Amino acid sequence: MMMIHKPSQNLRLGNCVRSISRLHCQSVSFQSPSSVAGTPRQFHARATEFLQTSDPDLTKSQQTVREAISKICSRFPDEYWRTRDESKKFPSELHSALARDGWLGICMPSRYGGSDLGISEASIMMQTIAESGAGMTGASAVHINIFGLEPVVKFGTEEQKERFLIPLIKGEERACFGVTEPNTGLDTLRLQSSATRDGDYYVLRGSKIWISTAQVAEKILILTRTTPLDKVKKPSQGLSLFYTDLDRTQVEVKEIPKMGRAAVDSNTLFFDGWQVPKEDMIGEENNGFKIIMQGMNAERILIGAEALGLAFAALRRAAIYASERAVFGRPIGQNQGIQHPLADSWMNLEAARLMICQAARLYDQGYASGEYANAAKYLAAEAAFRACERAVMTHGGMGYAKEYHVERYLREVFIPRIAPVSREMILNYIGERILGLPKSY
Ligand SMILES: Cc1cc2nc3c(=O)[nH]c(=O)nc-3n(C[C@H](O)[C@H](O)[C@H](O)COP(=O)(O)OP(=O)(O)OC[C@H]3O[C@@H](n4cnc5c(N)ncnc54)[C@H](O)[C@@H]3O)c2cc1C
Repeated sequence: MMMIHKPSQNLRLGNCVRSISRLHCQSVSFQSPSSVAGTPRQFHARATEFLQTSDPDLTKSQQTVREAISKICSRFPDEYWRTRDESKKFPSELHSALARDGWLGICMPSRYGGSDLGISEASIMMQTIAESGAGMTGASAVHINIFGLEPVVKFGTEEQKERFLIPLIKGEERACFGVTEPNTGLDTLRLQSSATRDGDYYVLRGSKIWISTAQVAEKILILTRTTPLDKVKKPSQGLSLFYTDLDRTQVEVKEIPKMGRAAVDSNTLFFDGWQVPKEDMIGEENNGFKIIMQGMNAERILIGAEALGLAFAALRRAAIYASERAVFGRPIGQNQGIQHPLADSWMNLEAARLMICQAARLYDQGYASGEYANAAKYLAAEAAFRACERAVMTHGGMGYAKEYHVERYLREVFIPRIAPVSREMILNYIGERILGLPKSY
């Protein structure tokens, strides 16, 4: 396999390198189905290779991440994901495999078992998981654990970091993320759940919706209001953040039946008198919104990378099918009506990939403004949607059959378009903050 490296940037591989050497993971070579045995390939038909690693722009650390994650994911074939989608059983084997080799701590400090790498590497990890065929199901199984605890890393006390980060990185505890509420949706600052101090506890009352992995998670990072809205100067004040046990004796967790990603649950949470120890508050009381915002740009970049991976998986299947399926005496991919939309999708996905790289690099350098992270998520999700739809249409009737997996990808690709922030809110952000247009809401 051709390996082109740029001089390594920011090469702090820590645990990942140790786990890679444990795996004896050299360069993982994946064969293109169209390559002829014994004939040296003159070019890389990259979109048809299973987890091709020859992107010429990857840094050495990104390439190492991609190869090691590819190797783990190759143990989870398409059929694993199809049956998980049918049985709705959480893919704990993938979570455990990634935890075993230290990958859940990719962005966490090495002091607590992490690898001190950046979002540039984590986005490659999440793209690769999705691209393996695991899609949003595989990515969502670990997503919050990868970067959701950034508020604890940045604002937690030393005691909290040891108590919370170490078991998370080891895979002994799983976290979920509770922000969205049924009555307020994207208007986060008006969320209605409350936390009231009572001795050594805060007593939480209210509800959350769409909370991913709450059926399996031991812990939750949850945002609630500690000072009523009418008693603060700005709506962004008076919110507080807790990282605490998701105690099912005090919280009712109800699964939401949904369109795709069936193996990774989504839930409504109800609580009325949930006692949360005061030691589980992260950062200062009433400062929770500012704290949680710290991780938002990174989350958008990671979701964009996941959308991209899913779309490359769809495009790979479409290109292979278009080469193999013959109708009217020729491969369907010889028709430009089939070929050009796929070529157009590859270019749009690569453009989105560059925006993701740009946003991740800037984030890792400390750039805090959100335009690139938002744009990366938007462009990747929209390009991914078109690629997944085209993959279904390329397969004709078989696109509708579970056997070819692309219908599952199409169901999953709606998620990065909706969450963690919708397309419309990103357009609002760019319109207002970048173009200086009047705020529309
Ligand atoms: C599969 C899945 C997993 C999720 N996981 C989690 C999770 O783990 N934790 C969590 O906290 N949340 C999670 N979410 C919630 C997700 O972040 C929200 O669904 C998303 O933020 C949109 O909020 P909403 O559904 O309340 O939409 P609403 O706020 O009701 O908006 C509905 C529509 O109106 C549009 N709209 C609203 N206001 C405006 C405006 N001012 N201008 C233009 N358009 C507007 C929106 O863009 C959207 O299209 C998940 C959602 C899904 C589907």
